[in-house]
Amino acid sequence: MARIGFIGVGNMGGPMAANLIKAGHQVNAFDLAAAATDAAAKAGAAIAPSARDAAKGAETIITMLPAGKHVRGVLIDNGLLAETPRGTLFIDCSTIDVETARAMHEAATKAGHHMLDAPVSGGTAGAAAGTLTFMCGGTDVAFKRAEPILATMGKAVIHAGGAGNGQAAKICNNLILGITMIGVSEALTLGKKLGLEAATLHAVSSKSSGSCWALNEYCPAPGPVPKAPSNRDYQPGFTAAMMLKDLKLALGAAQASDSTVPLGALAESLYALYCNAGHGARDFSGIIKMIEGRA
Ligand code: NAD
Repeated sequence: MARIGFIGVGNMGGPMAANLIKAGHQVNAFDLAAAATDAAAKAGAAIAPSARDAAKGAETIITMLPAGKHVRGVLIDNGLLAETPRGTLFIDCSTIDVETARAMHEAATKAGHHMLDAPVSGGTAGAAAGTLTFMCGGTDVAFKRAEPILATMGKAVIHAGGAGNGQAAKICNNLILGITMIGVSEALTLGKKLGLEAATLHAVSSKSSGSCWALNEYCPAPGPVPKAPSNRDYQPGFTAAMMLKDLKLALGAAQASDSTVPLGALAESLYALYCNAGHGARDFSGIIKMIEGRA
């Protein structure tokens, strides 16, 4: 059993903390939102009045926050890295920019701690079911310490390399997903105009060179994949706003590293249009409606 400080128990962090508790860990949680701490308390977490209090006595501190500025705020501005006893393991599961992630590693290391960036794939359903995929960046020592803890919340814990490589893997993965979802949506829309049923194109392309996760497992047209959000009017799943956030992170990283991502830039614009039309809270696969001219 480990003593874990958990900061940010929202839609993702809440169920993740609940799985840690189910696995026998002692969780001390903090969140700015009362609704989030109420839910965490119901799941068995002790609620701390501040991030610093949540960190007291913990060997491991997990953050699951909206963006890089929040992580920096908690770890540096709030003094968590400076005040926590040396040798503490910090695991940041938030999806944030690679630059901030690497800056957090540097600051944590300087303060004598171990740090892992460990963003996740799998959404709120994966967080609740304990089937997340963790993509981790950091030293072997940090990874080995974190692995058994992360394994209680996920089905896969992958070491992607050094500091920031977890975030790099996350945004590159979602760059593929954001682009392929639009490609699949275009093909299904064209197919429909040509008289091809979605189920038929799905049957063909999922066994041909057009095969990809966006089509096979998450088909944006209703019918072929019963569990996909397209069958429940695009209730998320993974929201279009989240996809837009991740594509913005990918574009920022591309600019900072002199990489060209022309399709990524176009995908970002299309998801921004979809979100600005009032659909940010829908599943990202709802972009097919806009491609069809119906959003
Ligand atoms: P959320 O908004 O539900 O939860 C974030 C929580 O952080 C909120 O409860 C908020 O009150 C809290 N918070 C903000 N600033 C804080 C601070 N300074 N101190 C303490 N608490 C603070 O968001 P979420 O959906 O849980 O996402 C969290 C992270 O996970 C994001 O980085 C997101 O990109 C990533 N992510 C989300 C999903 C998803 O499907 N929701 C999937 C993969 C990754």
